[in-house]
Amino acid sequence: MAALTLTQPLVSDLVGDLTATSGVTAPVIAPFTGELLHELPTSTESDVADAAAAARIAQKSWREAGFAHRKAVLLKAHDLLLERREDILDILQTENGKTRGHAFEEFAQAVQATRYYAVVARRVLRTRGRRAGVPVMLRASVDYKPKGVIGVITPWNFPIALGIMDIAPALAAGNAVVQKADNQGALSILASRRAFIDAGVPAALWAVVTGPGATVGNAVVDNADYVAFTGSSATGTKVGERAMSTLTGASLELGGKNPLIVLDDVKPSAVASSVACAVFSGAGQVCVSIERIYVQRSVATAFTAAFVDYTKSMKQGAALDFTTDVGSLTSEAQLKRVQAHVDDAVSKGATILAGGKARPDLGPYFFEPTILSGVTSEMECFAVETFGPLVAIEIVDTEGEAIAAANASDFGLNASVFSGSLVRARRVADQLDAGSVNINDGYRATFGTIDAPQGGMKRSGLGRRNGVEGILRYVDTRTVAENTGLMSLPRTGAEWAKMAGLLIMLLKTMKALRLR
Ligand code: NAD
Repeated sequence: MAALTLTQPLVSDLVGDLTATSGVTAPVIAPFTGELLHELPTSTESDVADAAAAARIAQKSWREAGFAHRKAVLLKAHDLLLERREDILDILQTENGKTRGHAFEEFAQAVQATRYYAVVARRVLRTRGRRAGVPVMLRASVDYKPKGVIGVITPWNFPIALGIMDIAPALAAGNAVVQKADNQGALSILASRRAFIDAGVPAALWAVVTGPGATVGNAVVDNADYVAFTGSSATGTKVGERAMSTLTGASLELGGKNPLIVLDDVKPSAVASSVACAVFSGAGQVCVSIERIYVQRSVATAFTAAFVDYTKSMKQGAALDFTTDVGSLTSEAQLKRVQAHVDDAVSKGATILAGGKARPDLGPYFFEPTILSGVTSEMECFAVETFGPLVAIEIVDTEGEAIAAANASDFGLNASVFSGSLVRARRVADQLDAGSVNINDGYRATFGTIDAPQGGMKRSGLGRRNGVEGILRYVDTRTVAENTGLMSLPRTGAEWAKMAGLLIMLLKTMKALRLR
């Protein structure tokens, strides 16, 4: 098995690409071992301002280079990412503690986003004619101008995918990026960014900074023409308020408490593994992963037994290969949070059906995949995001009760329904208040569909990434209309008097012809 660490020359080479001159370093711990992985250089607020100024200069020629050039560079980056996948996956796993499979899922998502935006940018953003207000007299078109410098702020849990899903469309549209990496995700981001730089993205066009959110994160917001933030609802609210104070646009991809409904026409043994995958991928540290299950009474016993059995059979451990099913939590803070949620729930009467304890024998931050029943509203994990391998099962009698329970949350990020009948599943899905709804799948059906938007309702966020929506947020939409000179619009009272009849006829004709 490969060593669960990274060589210092590799780390030094990667962190050399940061814009970070504070002289202060932040220790980054390797979750699989608990040992110091490296001391990460951190940035100052003036580093951010300098990076943004250099990015602004680089953006001019990148914008002028046009769609065809940007497409070729991004497609080359796509190929380089794939060529370098083994090294990138090693770095991601070592920095994050996730399994090879979960690292691959994240990496593939980033590769997909790179290809998708390379290919669709021109089609979405080309100038198009629009029907002018007054035919003959006017001609109109709409075009899209890149905003300039996009501030991208990313969390530690999916550093590559959540970075590139926001950065590929920014670059494809002709923008520059200043990215604030979470300290725990910086190496994964820098290794992936290399592929883009080697493919032809100018280094100054995509700067990476690190350091405390309260100072460096704020500086990114202050220096950006648009902010793409991914993280907790608490931080996202602050980021949104700060951006709005200067009327800077922001997309906010925030937390969730995602429900999954099991209807009474499922075959319990057939769905147990898919449900477990939806709950325990990334050790539950996935924004769209499932933390609440509502199962209909007549299948509750059989489903719970199959789900518990499958969960107990999952192999947990640290390995830089595909031999494990569940990985480690990423930090001590995450371990404490999960343990606190379990302890609180058990002390107030919840029952542990599977897992429930830390596994220091596997590594310092491992926690068993855990299933609870009897979770009530006084317990912390009832409504608050755990962001760990913890799920609560509740029995419901009717479809309506399941829908009401699923929607009874401040969050609305992701939801799921399992049923033997697609008709029934679609009827339930239609009533779920979430930015993404999956049928007979936990989250990957929507998350992997890069052509469709992803984001949250309620406290789960504002705006959307992925799909056409994910690139349109990064451009200013402009309308250009011209007077054709063939006839003049009325200016004086006398001209209005002459034209009014004609204009009324025109309005009636447009309706009769069913024109827009
Ligand atoms: P976090 O909000 O603590 O941090 C996210 C990023 O924001 C980090 O880079 C952090 O340094 C930075 N930051 C902190 N304070 C800041 C400030 N005042 N101004 C600007 N930046 C600041 O979140 P986290 O703990 O890193 O990530 C976990 C959370 O992210 C969970 O709630 C999870 O659900 C959510 N998340 C959401 C999505 C999504 O797409 N909706 C995806 C992944 C994670």
